[in-house]
Amino acid sequence: MPLELFDLHVHTARCHHANGTAEDMVKAAIQKGLRAIGINDHFPMAYLPPPIPVHAYAMDISEFPGHVKELKQLREQYRGEIDVLIGSEVDYYMPAVDTIKRDLEPFMDDFDYLYGSVHVVRGFPVDDGNFLQKWDEYDVDSIFIDYYQALAEMAETRMFDVVGHVDLPKKYKKIPAGNLDGRIGKTLDAIKGAGMAVEINTAGLRKPIGEMYPSPHILEMVFDKNIEITLGSDAHDPSEVGHSFDRAIGLARQIGFSSIVCFKKRRPTAVPL
Ligand SMILES: [Zn+2]
Ligand SMILES: [Zn+2]
Repeated sequence: MPLELFDLHVHTARCHHANGTAEDMVKAAIQKGLRAIGINDHFPMAYLPPPIPVHAYAMDISEFPGHVKELKQLREQYRGEIDVLIGSEVDYYMPAVDTIKRDLEPFMDDFDYLYGSVHVVRGFPVDDGNFLQKWDEYDVDSIFIDYYQALAEMAETRMFDVVGHVDLPKKYKKIPAGNLDGRIGKTLDAIKGAGMAVEINTAGLRKPIGEMYPSPHILEMVFDKNIEITLGSDAHDPSEVGHSFDRAIGLARQIGFSSIVCFKKRRPTAVPL
C-alpha cells in the first residue's frame, strides 16, 4: 500500500520570501501524490525588535484574515483530491508571548495545527544569511545553548503542536564544539511533556549544512524519548513541496519509527510508515 504522505510545512508568496500562491502549492502537492498539504505560512511577527526585517519574513497581520479565507476556499475547491490543512509557523519570542497569544486568538478555530519555531537568539535571526557577522560576537556553543533553552520555554507554553526545524542554528554550517546532548535532552523532555511532535524538515538538505533537521543523532534521541514525528519540506517554492520525503521516511524507518502524525483541528492522527 502506498504511503499516505503529507507535507505540513509550506510557505507562500505572502511571506515575501517565497514563490507561488497557496493554490500553486496545493497543485504541486497533488502532482507529488500527497494526501494532504498543510499551508503554515509565517505568522505575522511585528513583535520582533529592530533591526529584524519582519516584513521580509511575514505578511502583515491585516492580511492574515484574507490568507485564512483563501485557504478555506482551497480546502473546499480541492476536497476529494487532497486535504488542505490550515496551519501557521509562529516565531516564538519570549518577551512577546502575550502579544502572540492575542494576535493568534481570532484564528484559533481555524487552525488544524500550529508550529512553534525559534529563529531569533540574542536579538538576531540565526537562520538569516544577512546576519552571519553576528555569530562572530558570540561563542557558537552559547548560541546553540540559548536556542535550545528558548525551544524548551516555547514547549512549556503549551501553545503549539509541532516544533519546527529542531536544530536550525546549524544551517550555515555552525557546529557546536562541545557535546550539547544534556541540554538537548532537557529540551526534548519539555517537548514530550507538552505533547508536541518534532518535524523531520528536509529544507536543511537544500542549505549549506546539507542535512535534514534534526540530525540523525538528535532524531535518535527523539525516538528514545518516545516523541512523535511529523513531516515538512519548509517549501518556499512549488518545486520544493514534498522535497526528499523518500530520504526522510527512510531515515525515520531506519531509526525505528513506525508512524508519523498528521493534524486536523489540533488533533494528531498517526499514519503508519
Ligand atoms: Zn522556520
Ligand atoms: Zn518555515
